[in-house]
Parts: sequence; C-alpha cells; structure tokens
Amino acid sequence: MTSGVYDIFIAGGGINGCGIARDAVGRGYSVFLAEMKDLASGTSSRATKLIHGGLRYLEHYEFRLVRESLMEREVLWAMAPHIIWPLRFVLPLHKAMRPAWLIRLGLFLYDHIGGRKALPATKVLNLESDPAGRPLKPGFRKAFEYSDCWVNDSRLVALNARDAADRGAVIRTRTKVVEARRESGLWSITTEDVNTGAKETVRARLFVNAAGPWVDRLLQGAVGRNDHSIRLVQGSHIIIRKKFADPRAYFFQNNDGRIFFAIPYEEDFTLIGTTDQDYKGDPQNVVISDAEIDYLCAGASEYFAEPVTRADMVWSYSGVRPLYDDGASKAQEATRDYVLKADGAAGEPQLLNIFGGKITTYRRLAEHMMEKIEDIIGKKGQPWTAGAKLPGGDFDRQGFDGVLAKFRRDYPFLSEAHARRLIRLYGTRAWQILRGAKSAADLGHVFGADLTEAELTYLADNEWAREAEDVLWRRTKLGLKIEAAATAEIDAFLKSRPVAGEHIAAQ
Ligand code: FAD
Repeated sequence: MTSGVYDIFIAGGGINGCGIARDAVGRGYSVFLAEMKDLASGTSSRATKLIHGGLRYLEHYEFRLVRESLMEREVLWAMAPHIIWPLRFVLPLHKAMRPAWLIRLGLFLYDHIGGRKALPATKVLNLESDPAGRPLKPGFRKAFEYSDCWVNDSRLVALNARDAADRGAVIRTRTKVVEARRESGLWSITTEDVNTGAKETVRARLFVNAAGPWVDRLLQGAVGRNDHSIRLVQGSHIIIRKKFADPRAYFFQNNDGRIFFAIPYEEDFTLIGTTDQDYKGDPQNVVISDAEIDYLCAGASEYFAEPVTRADMVWSYSGVRPLYDDGASKAQEATRDYVLKADGAAGEPQLLNIFGGKITTYRRLAEHMMEKIEDIIGKKGQPWTAGAKLPGGDFDRQGFDGVLAKFRRDYPFLSEAHARRLIRLYGTRAWQILRGAKSAADLGHVFGADLTEAELTYLADNEWAREAEDVLWRRTKLGLKIEAAATAEIDAFLKSRPVAGEHIAAQ
C-alpha cells in the first residue's frame, strides 16, 4: 500500500472474495477485504459441499464449465487434503428416468475430459450384491459408481482468508460497504462496522464486487448503478440422522428430471439436497419452505427402503445461488458458469463485478479476475495458487491417516473422534491449538461436545470467529452436537477476545 491507497478493495468475504484476496496479495498487490457479516455467512456455507464437475451440467452443454471444474478437483484436493477428500457416488438406475446409455455416455465424458489422474474411474455396480444396495428398495438392481470430491465449504473460505492475511491482506469482518464513489482517480469506499456503526473510508485503485447474491444490491445501493444481472435461485438441504453406514454418497434422479444427493455427513448424519427454485427476497432471509422439505423427503423415500420423513430431520439450511441471468426459462437450467464484468469509462477507476460461479471454480475464477486486474492496474506476480497449500494442508493428499496417527501419538489423551475432528478441520494447524498440552485439563473449559477453550481461542485469534454461530455452524458444525444453551457462554468467551485476524497481524 502506498500513501494510504490499496491496490484492490474487495466487497464480500465468501469463497470468491477470499480466493481473489489470497491470489492478489500473493502476487504483490495490496488488498483490503470487507465482509458485512462473518466469513462464509452467505452462500459459501450453504452449498452441497461438492468439488465436482457437475454431471448434470453436461445435459445443458456446459462443457467449458464442466471441464474446468473437473480439472480443479485434484488441484484443490492437493491444496487442502484435510478439508477436501474424494467421495464415490452411487447412481442407481431408475426405469422411469434417464436411460442407462445416456448416463453411461455422460460418465464416460466425465471420466475423460477433466484430467482425472488420482481419482478412480466409473464402474458398474450390481446392487443385489454390493453393500450400496442394502439401504435401497429391492427394485434397484444396477448402478454406476463415479468419483467427485467433498469439501468443507466454510472452512475453505476461512483458510483462504487466513492465508491472504498471513501474506499481508487486511480482512475485516462485520464491516459493510455502504458507499463507493470515484474521486480524484481513485475509489473512495465507506465502510460501516455493523456492531458499532463506526465508519471508515478506504481508498483503492480498483474495486471488486464479490457480494455473491447481493451483487446487484451493492451496485444499486453503494455504487448507485441500476444493474440487474443476477438470478437468485434458492437451494435447501435437510440433515437427518444417519440413514446408511456405507461411506459412499448417493446421486438420485427425481421424476421431474432434477437430481439430488444423499451424502454421509459429520459422522452421524445424512445430508439430503438440494432444491432449485427462483427467489425474490433478501438473500439474508432465505429459509427452507414446507414444500421443499416435502419434496426432499418424497424424493429420498422413492429410493430408500426406510422412508424419510420430517420426524427424521435434525437440521436444515438454505442458500441462494447467485447465478448469472442468462434468460433461461427454468431455474435449474440457468448457467452455473461465472461472468466477470468491468464497469467504468476509460481513464476512470474500474469496478469489477462477479456474477455466478461455484465453490469448485473459485481458484480459476480468481485467476481470471487477476488477468482483468493486471490489464487495469498493471501486472505484478505470476499465477501461483495451483499447488500452493492452504493453511494446515501441508501434507500429501494420501497422508491424512499418517498425520492423524502422529497427532494421536503427540496428544494421547485425546479420544480418536476428537483427534480426527481436529485434523479434519485444521490439518497440521491442530498442533497450534494443542500447544504442547499434557492433559485434557490443559485445554481449558469444555463448552459442550469436545469444544474446548483452546480451540475457541484459536478460532478467535486466527479465524475471525466473533460470535457463537461463527463457530457452531461455520468453522465447525458442532451446532449439531452442542446444546443451544451453551451459545451464550460461547458468545461471552468470544467477545472477551481481541478482534480476530488483527491480533495475529499485529504480532
Ligand atoms: P457468498 O458466499 O454469498 O459471499 C458474498 C459475501 O458478500 C457474503 O458473505 C455477504 O455477507 C457479503 N456482502 C454482501 N454485501 C456486502 C456489503 N455491502 N459489504 C460487505 N460484504 C457484503 N458450488 C459448488 O462448487 N459445489 C456445490 O456442491 C455447490 N452446491 C450449492 C448448493 C446450494 C444450495 C447453493 C445455494 C450453492 C451451491 N454451490 C455449489 C454454489 C456456491 O455455493 C456459490 O457459487 C458460492 O458459494 C458463491 O460464493 P460468493 O463468494 O460469490 O458468494
């Protein structure tokens, strides 16, 4: 940063904003990112959590997007093998749905157009003998089994933010962009601390609007432009008690042509989703509707021998896809690809807007954004993020069990489940949480389940956790296991800590 002017100001701390911040600061640009709530509190914590090519998008001829996404699977897995891992999907053939030859053709393309090297290829299953057939109704005889990857979506965002901050980016949460004006050849951007109302003005050479489903609102409100390029499509998931022991996920087709997944989730649960329906309100207020719950229960009951009902539900979540509005008639047909649009006359400071995208493509989206940024404010570094490990991911992608075993040797008083949870969330940074503890008592107060003071302190100091919800539903999913009554105690503890991120930056 020179004379108080940042190279790049980013509005939005979802996966796209944090991915761009990391890439840009690693190339030598100075970066300021403002997120109005918590990191990943928008769409980026509400996904199906797949790093996937999107088999279904082949039906809509989205070959560019599918190929780029397929290629990213193994790149991202290598960057963060603690929070990303391969998952096999079982796709049972259903007489009334797509014919076997069509699915076989789709999976052939899926296996061959995306640089698959380490992920295993598609195979055919006999459901009458394979364990994957056990939880299903007896009529399902044959299935295809194929590969994609699983990702802990909110942690992917937090780790990109952490790495960006470690490299020098300023990351401010609970900081809303309320006004952005072009002034004397620069952007003058006013932010507001949503807790105190305190305002700050930041100057930058370039402004990136990574506000996801709020992208049009930010344009209309803060920038004063009347742009409508986004189509909001709601998607909801239900979480039920574990329905099957098999580690594989299911890919089901519904009789309306849509597809949905049933995925092993957080050890004890099954995640079922998602839906697709146009949404008109404020993305902040999105909640699952009764119709969506009925739709998912009925769809899953078409396949599972034991029906899925509302009584099985332990939690649900809903999110809004910020899709680029390409004029498609149905919500599920709107493109999942991303569009980056510059706004500003020649010689004026530029605004770069992001429309659409997937978690899977966030790294490539950031690289494409960097090409635009270089054209506008000049080139600094080279592309570097492919192969650059995210915090805690500095081990081989097949090496998870070895890291876990070492952690258990170093901290033998941890239960297997506790140690596994910590390595899955923090990878090699789990050692920073334990900090040489000799006994469970050294980890301090336990707030419920196995959430200790040591872990909360780490999250507050390193990952911008400021409220109980940040920890219980985003940095971890311990909200599924901890009584709601513990929330006030966790909140009070977090509020007693210095503001996260800055604590570290100041050291
Ligand atoms: P967001 O994560 O919404 O981030 C935007 C941020 O901007 C928000 O945190 C918001 O608070 C902030 N913001 C808004 N206005 C302001 C302001 N004025 N000032 C400061 N901050 C502001 N993708 C996949 O790859 N795999 C999947 O399996 C998958 N499943 C999905 C399932 C569902 C149901 C949905 C809804 C999406 C799914 N996606 C999936 C898509 C993916 O989740 C999104 O494309 C991605 O998370 C969008 O990230 P983003 O950073 O653009 O938006």
